[in-house]
Amino acid sequence: MKRLEGKTALITGAARGIGLEIAAAFAAEGAAVAVADLSAQESAAAAAGIADRTGARAIGLGLDVTKEADCEKAVAETEKAFGKVDILVNNAGITKDGLVLRMKEADFDAVISVNLKGAFLMSKAASRLMLKARAGRIINISSVVGQSGQAGQANYSASKAGLIGLTKSLAREFAPRQVLVNAVAPGFIRTRMTEGLKEEARAAISGLIPLGRMGEPGEVAKAALFLAGDDSAYITGQVLAVNGGLYM
Ligand code: NAP
Repeated sequence: MKRLEGKTALITGAARGIGLEIAAAFAAEGAAVAVADLSAQESAAAAAGIADRTGARAIGLGLDVTKEADCEKAVAETEKAFGKVDILVNNAGITKDGLVLRMKEADFDAVISVNLKGAFLMSKAASRLMLKARAGRIINISSVVGQSGQAGQANYSASKAGLIGLTKSLAREFAPRQVLVNAVAPGFIRTRMTEGLKEEARAAISGLIPLGRMGEPGEVAKAALFLAGDDSAYITGQVLAVNGGLYM
């Protein structure tokens, strides 16, 4: 029996990178998946690829997680297509790095808006169904820098630390209805977000990681899969680090 047979999942920022790997991993374990991203076209293409590879049902949705109406529509469309929303993964995220003295207010606001407010809006929209169903999983993709801090990423690390607070608060609020809320905190993972790093920066980072290398998106997806399935039924309000030992 597949681990997510009969389940439905909505994953934001899932047209590429970590979100795409999570959607594909869930589909491979039998879940019907809604791939939601800024571009409806890219989401549809990603969903078609997943359906081809896994045979699972997959739909693509366009949404901007900073807009409440988009979040509500994405949840409604997922429910319309699959009948319910069992699992929400708040994965959409952006960076706008810079030292604080040079960081524009707009760059601070944009990162908080997508990474933190987006997760709040999506959780609010999806939890209506989950609380009624007295079951559900919300998985927030935080980051190692939300735990450790990072020079040049005050906005990003604040958003990711905020996600951990949001995770714990939602976990407490929703626990009486058996809706479990956890976070995954990846370290440095090879995606578009990190591909801009220079070779020396990459080598320096790898030197700081006890396991000696950057992580793969699929390795983050496996942690999300664990938190989405029955094996984690007694785990809520936790942060699962997938960082090669970078932060302990
Ligand atoms: P990515 O390849 O850049 O993918 C992020 C996706 O989110 C993109 O498809 C992007 O769409 C989408 N997105 C951006 N703003 C959005 C919005 N307002 N509404 C809906 N979707 C939006 O990044 P990734 O590396 O896979 O990162 C995925 C998550 O993991 C992020 O939350 C990131 O912070 C976190 N993370 C990544 C790393 C890492 O090392 N890569 C480490 C720790 C945590 P567009 O492409 O159209 O802009």
